[in-house]
Amino acid sequence: MSDKRERLAESVRPEIRGLQPYEAEASGPGIRLDANESPFDVPEAFKAGILERLRKLPWNRYPDPQAADLRRLLGRWERVPPEQILLGNGSDEIIRDLLTAYGGPGTRTVFPTPTFSMYRQLTIATGGTPVGIPLGENWELDGSSVLEALAAPASRMLFLASPNNPTGQVYPAEQIEELVSRTDRLVVVDEAYRLFAGTSFASRLADHPNLAILNTFSKSMSLAGVRVGYLVAHPEVVDVLNRIRLPYNVDALAQAVAAEICRQPEWWQAQAQRVIAERERLGRALARLPGVRVYPSQANFLLLRVPRADRLRQALAAGDVAVRGFPGAERLGDCLRVTVGRPEDNDRLLSLMAASLENEGER
Ligand code: PMP
Repeated sequence: MSDKRERLAESVRPEIRGLQPYEAEASGPGIRLDANESPFDVPEAFKAGILERLRKLPWNRYPDPQAADLRRLLGRWERVPPEQILLGNGSDEIIRDLLTAYGGPGTRTVFPTPTFSMYRQLTIATGGTPVGIPLGENWELDGSSVLEALAAPASRMLFLASPNNPTGQVYPAEQIEELVSRTDRLVVVDEAYRLFAGTSFASRLADHPNLAILNTFSKSMSLAGVRVGYLVAHPEVVDVLNRIRLPYNVDALAQAVAAEICRQPEWWQAQAQRVIAERERLGRALARLPGVRVYPSQANFLLLRVPRADRLRQALAAGDVAVRGFPGAERLGDCLRVTVGRPEDNDRLLSLMAASLENEGER
C-alpha cells in the first residue's frame, strides 16, 4: 500500500512536486479586502432578469462551444470582429492555454517581478522555465532587461500585467510600444484592472501581430464568482488557442450571465468610478497613518509598506477584515495589499489600522 503510494508520488512530474497550490482562501464572513474582487454585487433587479434567462436555457444540452452571443457583444465592446475574441473559464485558464500552446518544456516565459503569481505557477505547471525581471525601486519596468531576456532563443512569451498586481501601476504606453515593436515574441498585456486605470493598450492591437490583450469579468464587472475571462488577439493566435482549449470551457450559465452584464455598461462603469473615488480617499487616509507608505495605484487595490506587516495583518483579521500579506516574499515581506471596498469597509479598515499602529508605537 505505502509502496504504491510512493511510486504514485514519484510519477508526478518533478517540476510539479515542488509547487504549492494557489493561496486563495474560501470567502468567510467579515470584510474581504484580500482578493481584488468588486465590493458591489450585481443588483437584484439584474439578477432577476438573468435568472429568468437561465431558467429558459436547456440545461441538458452542451453550451454553445463558440459562445457566439457573448463573443459578438465583446467584439462590439472591444471594436474587433468576434474571431479575435477567445473566452476562458476566468483569465487564469487563458494564461494556461497560452502557455500550453506557446510554452512548454525547454521554453522560457518572461515577466517583471513582483507580479501576478499565476504567470510563474502556470509556466512551471506546463513544463517551462519562468524568468522574472525585477521591477525598479518604484516598480518601474526595466525595458532593456526585458528585451534581453526575450531575445534568448528559448523565450516565447512576455506577460505584462498593467495595472500590475500587486504593485498597482500602469506601464507607460510608449514603453509597452517599444517592447512589442522590438520583439517577435508574444506579448500578453493583462488588463484585468483596466477600468480602474481608464487606459488600455488594446487600440494598438491592429499594428502588432504579436500583441494580445487579456481581460476578465472578475474585477470591474463584479463576476469573480462566475468565471469568465477573455483574450483579444489576432485571429491566428485565437485559432492556435482554439486547438487546445477545452470545448465547453465556459458553461452555458456563465455565458448567459456575462452576456447580460455586457449589456449593462452604464452600471459597471459607474461601479468602477465609485471604486476609483474610494481608492483615492482610502489612499490619502492610509498615507496619514504612522509608518505607512502607500504606493500610487491605478487598480482596485493599494499596496502598502507597513511596520510589522504580519502582525498588522493578523490584527486586521482579528477585527474581521481580511487583507493580503506576502510573508517571506522577496521585496514584499513588509507589504500588505488591500482591496478597495465599500466606504464603510474602508472606514473599518482605517480605524483598525490606526488602532493597531498606535499600539505598535507604544510598545
Ligand atoms: N490577471 C491578473 C493581473 C489578476 O490579478 C488576476 C486575479 N487576481 C487574474 C488575471 C485572474 O483573474 P480571473 O481568473 O478571475 O479572470
